[in-house]
Amino acid sequence: MSTVAAYAAVSATEPLVKTTIERRPVGPNDVLIEIAYAGICHSDIHTVRGEWGDMVYPLTVGHEIVGTVTEVGSAVTLHAVGDRVGVGCMVNSCRECENCLAGAENYCLNGNTGTYASVDRDGSITQGGYSTHIVVVEDFVLKVPQSIPYEAAAPLLCAGITTYSPLAHWNAGPGKRVAVVGMGGLGHMAVKIAHAMGAEVTVLSQSLSKKDDGLRLGADHYYATSDPATLKDLRNSFDLIINTVSAVIDINAYLGLLRLDGTLVSVGAPPEALPVAVFRLFGNRRSFAGSSIGSIAETQQMLDFCAEHGIAPEVEIISADQINEAYERVLASDVRYRFVIDIATLA
Ligand code: NAP
Ligand code: ZN
Ligand code: ZN
Repeated sequence: MSTVAAYAAVSATEPLVKTTIERRPVGPNDVLIEIAYAGICHSDIHTVRGEWGDMVYPLTVGHEIVGTVTEVGSAVTLHAVGDRVGVGCMVNSCRECENCLAGAENYCLNGNTGTYASVDRDGSITQGGYSTHIVVVEDFVLKVPQSIPYEAAAPLLCAGITTYSPLAHWNAGPGKRVAVVGMGGLGHMAVKIAHAMGAEVTVLSQSLSKKDDGLRLGADHYYATSDPATLKDLRNSFDLIINTVSAVIDINAYLGLLRLDGTLVSVGAPPEALPVAVFRLFGNRRSFAGSSIGSIAETQQMLDFCAEHGIAPEVEIISADQINEAYERVLASDVRYRFVIDIATLA
């Protein structure tokens, strides 16, 4: 066991505070990672505020982690001391259910072990990346290509894979019209990745305040949903819509934007239901789907895809003592486009 510096939530309503947490000893299949950067995902905020259910506090969140391997267990073969690595939203899975055996451990039927707020095999609650070190079993650790800037790589481990996976699954590519709803952490990555895949990309944001950025990141079109004409004029337009909004939106209005056989995928995870009018699905034989992060193999594919296409998240680097302020800015949609904590400021 070792004690390491961390930031933790102490309740659903109080600010996060600096503290220490325990990390397990490095087992035969584990690697010890000295964390360099940790991204702030909106899921961290939903979680610490108890919006997805009651939590056990204190709780350290953070599941967009990059760092350097500083120790490996005796049986480790995949990573070596000095490697630049990443950890995303899960740190283990049952390894024996149908989905795990099919390489879809993000859909583990026994529930994968989340990087934070999950019950680990020893019964403890997992603690995430707003900390100086983490111990993770080697096959849930990703290789981060050197060509991706170190300080910008962390958000790929959640925002990157969560948008890459549905874009790849529903074949975003040349000839496909893809809309991205909400241009925050996930949304801006969806724009970059869909553009790199060759799709025609449209951003549907609440206002036009980020239009120049959207076009620079690879969007072909950019509309404000606050303008009632937008949802009317764009009816029957898209093959694929990726909804990244963290709050409830009128999902039926967005379903109406799908053309024949189009799919709307919600990756945004508000705690409340998104009620669907079934007749909206009848028109154009539309589908409404969800998608949860991606498998470890697909996450590695995404990292390699981003390296190959020169894609990296747009980040604002903050010190650990700015985490609470950053949360307020995320909640106000004032993020350009992912906050990343410089973990050196926590040591
Ligand atoms: P974020 O950075 O806060 O981005 C969300 C964006 O949604 C905002 O930037 C804003 O974009 C738009 N938005 C926010 N409130 C809105 C409202 N009331 N009405 C309309 N639009 C609104 O959050 P994120 O980190 O990208 O995460 C987005 C959601 O995905 C969260 O719910 C998170 O928990 C979830 N998530 C899911 C997965 C998964 O595996 N499925 C993984 C990671 C995160 P504009 O300013 O452009 O309108
Ligand atoms: Zn996340
Ligand atoms: Zn499983």
